Amino acid sequence: MIFKEGIIQNSLYNTAISLGIKPNTIIDFARLYGFQVDFQRDIWKGDTFQIIYEQFENEDGSLIENGDIIFSNLNIQGKDLNLYKFELGKNKIDYFDENGKSMKKTLMKTPINGARLSSPFGKRKHPILGFTKMHAGTDFAAPTGTPIMASGDGVVTRAQWCGGGGNCVKIKHNSVYQTVYAHMSKFGRGIKKGVRVKQGQIIGYVGSTGLSTGPHLHYEVIENGRKINSQKLKLPSGKTLKGKQRNKFEVNKIKIDVLKSELIAGLN
Ligand SMILES: [Zn+2]
Repeated sequence: MIFKEGIIQNSLYNTAISLGIKPNTIIDFARLYGFQVDFQRDIWKGDTFQIIYEQFENEDGSLIENGDIIFSNLNIQGKDLNLYKFELGKNKIDYFDENGKSMKKTLMKTPINGARLSSPFGKRKHPILGFTKMHAGTDFAAPTGTPIMASGDGVVTRAQWCGGGGNCVKIKHNSVYQTVYAHMSKFGRGIKKGVRVKQGQIIGYVGSTGLSTGPHLHYEVIENGRKINSQKLKLPSGKTLKGKQRNKFEVNKIKIDVLKSELIAGLN
């Protein structure tokens, strides 16, 4: 069990890397908070995080792999966002806050980690075409090759060249929601039309293909056929554990809190 805590300097990603946290664990962490946190606008310098995760090692101490995140906290401007791992059933884990409420939502606000929101939804002067045009998506500037995640479970309905959008992916989540991801440098492994994807799965990588002035992700959310502002997306909040499961969760939460104090005590 590994405990790390850090104060965010320039980005969560860079701060976590400097603490020796592996990229996979950082991506898992970002995925947990991707429903409620916009990593560009909500996180300020000086915000802090704590994380407990499993790490499996060989007898000689060499690292085999990182396991699940057990506990995490993101403190944004003095407000704690605690998440506890909980097993709902066989091989079915989820994360809940201290009140037993799931963080999961149908779609993520930010399907990319460590990016900077560079152009919001709304009317703007197009950087290449030069005239004012509705920008029906949200742009996130990020280095070429940054992984892009499926914002929700669904079926890929497009993974091909689409003109101005360059290499783009479109996902149908349900009868109401679809999402589009454009300007990719390349598609994720196995991503093609008809393939089923899980929320958080890597579907492609940031690029600057099509009508684009620099590497970024152009992200669109389509609700009942209309493009809407992904950053203002209001989705029903996740379910809250009740009854027996809630009791089990409370016991589990206490165990995790004890473990956390032990790990913190061990540090000092
Ligand atoms: Zn755009």
